[in-house]
Amino acid sequence: MKTNGFALLTAMVVFGSSTVLYLGADDKKPVVKTGSATASKPAGTKSSTSKKPKKVVKTEAQWKKILTPEQFLITRKAGTERAFGAAYAKFKKQGEGTYFCVCCGAELFTSKQKFNSGCGWPSFYDPSKAPNITEKRDTSLGAVRTEVVCTVCDAHLGHVFFGEGFNTPTDKRYCINGAAMRFEAKGAKKKPEGSKKGAVSKSGKKKKSD
Ligand SMILES: [Zn+2]
Repeated sequence: MKTNGFALLTAMVVFGSSTVLYLGADDKKPVVKTGSATASKPAGTKSSTSKKPKKVVKTEAQWKKILTPEQFLITRKAGTERAFGAAYAKFKKQGEGTYFCVCCGAELFTSKQKFNSGCGWPSFYDPSKAPNITEKRDTSLGAVRTEVVCTVCDAHLGHVFFGEGFNTPTDKRYCINGAAMRFEAKGAKKKPEGSKKGAVSKSGKKKKSD
């Protein structure tokens, strides 16, 4: 009796457990996460990658919507504005301030790096936010040049030339299309729309202005 009972029990346990195992395995099969191996693991997050700006990606149609035809041609089609053009005339008059990518708004240069190279395009000796500038080898037009693009949105900005003998801290000339940049004068803050002359009625004057 005892042995029979034991054997039966063992058989039941074995049978039971194997059934459970089988069911469990069968159950889990379709749910196996095959993607776990290829899951997006941020590689090297410890190093300087955290400084890398987030990419801005748009279609050509989307860029066309937010850019002028000239801006689109230059930044998205690697065009070049003509030397001593309207954008350059503006650039020359601009005082202290910051230059941003006209496409995505990434900071590129400030007036501190601006210098007069006489080439007819806005010139800087260094970027103000180096991670936002990417330099690429460019062999178009039968010459080897270094193209300068916005790291964030890949906008073509211009070219950088080295060792030309300019009296600047870097001896580099970032030759940038004025139309590829948006200038913001130093201290120029966006004024709230409500500061119009006639808009003084809503709840009366609470503040006394002696
Ligand atoms: Zn950009």
